Amino acid sequence: MHCERVPLPLIAEQVGTPAYVYSTASMRNQVLALREALAPTGEPLIAYAVKANPNAAILTTFAAEGLGADVVSIGEYVRARAAGIAPEKIVFSGVGKTADEMAAALDGGLYQFNIESAEEAEMLSQVAQAADKRAPAAIRINPDVEAGSHPKISTGAARNKFGISMAEALDIFGRLDAFPGLDLRGVAVHIGSQLTNLSVLETAFTKIGDLVSGLRDRGHEIATVDLGGGLGINYDPRDALAPSPADYGAMIRRVSACWGVRLIVEPGRLLVGSAGVLLTRVIRVKAGAVHPFVVLDAGMNDLMRPALYDAWHAINAVNPTGQQMTADIVGPVCETGDTFALGRIIDQVDAGSLVVIGQAGAYAATMASSYNSRPLISEVMINGEDWAIVRERETIQSYLVTPPLPPWLR
Ligand SMILES: *Cc1c(COP(=O)(O)O)cnc(C)c1O
Repeated sequence: MHCERVPLPLIAEQVGTPAYVYSTASMRNQVLALREALAPTGEPLIAYAVKANPNAAILTTFAAEGLGADVVSIGEYVRARAAGIAPEKIVFSGVGKTADEMAAALDGGLYQFNIESAEEAEMLSQVAQAADKRAPAAIRINPDVEAGSHPKISTGAARNKFGISMAEALDIFGRLDAFPGLDLRGVAVHIGSQLTNLSVLETAFTKIGDLVSGLRDRGHEIATVDLGGGLGINYDPRDALAPSPADYGAMIRRVSACWGVRLIVEPGRLLVGSAGVLLTRVIRVKAGAVHPFVVLDAGMNDLMRPALYDAWHAINAVNPTGQQMTADIVGPVCETGDTFALGRIIDQVDAGSLVVIGQAGAYAATMASSYNSRPLISEVMINGEDWAIVRERETIQSYLVTPPLPPWLR
């Protein structure tokens, strides 16, 4: 098995396992497909959702493609800027921006803040006034739709913490428009992640279109509409195929045709999810009561999606023999939740076999922890026949030297 033209066993030998491996070609192809699909809507701002994978090499790849960034913390803002993403292409989202984060982003420059409450707007206005500026801002709307994906990644229902309700939006917009530190010029929506049903997105966007008309009727200028991210990718081949970027683009064109605004989209998973795999080695195969346990050297601390979201990931041998087995695929972490798959039919593997866990480019390395004192693992980027380490494996030594013991224990 290769990633582009590089054999995965070579990476395992040179870098060790577990390791994340990313394909540049896959990311670039996704950008191309999305850009082409959205071009007829007037060259929208494509702001990559940094939280999906904030690796510097990935951000730099997207910066070179001309993408902007959707950030949800000042840490992500700084990473995006360091990778060469221009400030006028950065959108700052998130329900809990602090005054310090607002001030820092205003100082560095950005396209707009997406505001999630009247309380936040008030704070932003004060921060901007103190800096003698007006903060470019849009209001994030909670359109109250059921996204239909996992509850932990659905964000657009009334009970969710995100955004301002449609019912309140008109009044709140009127109030906020008078804040001297705000340059309120748009609306935003993001109803969830791993969405595989375009009609839910269309329902939300249609509501946003109605709101834009309502706001204009009240004399507000609406220059930008941010449609968020959320388009899903294909994880389990037994599921229906996720909508293509072309279908997504056609739907956006249909609903937004008369809006007369600059559109923004914030794709994360769509651009990186299928571009990455987790390369791991079988430590041993342990006999089990129901199925054998295939114990990998990767654990839930490296890839927590199965434990967190019951996510399904493809699991394949790097050198398949043609034979198969049914097994529970687990990691070495001392938690029963450290399980990648139960009763899965996989390629026959033994101790020492290399295995890849697929579709591990998004919400994977970025969520890793060092639980069980397991150092964060390497990340490798492939480009044709070239490859490079884009994140060094942590060492156990780093746990011994920092922080120093408190004085009373020395
Ligand atoms: C997470 C997030 C995104 C990206 O979601 P994907 O499902 O990865 O496309 C976009 N916008 C906002 C506000 C987000 O929180």
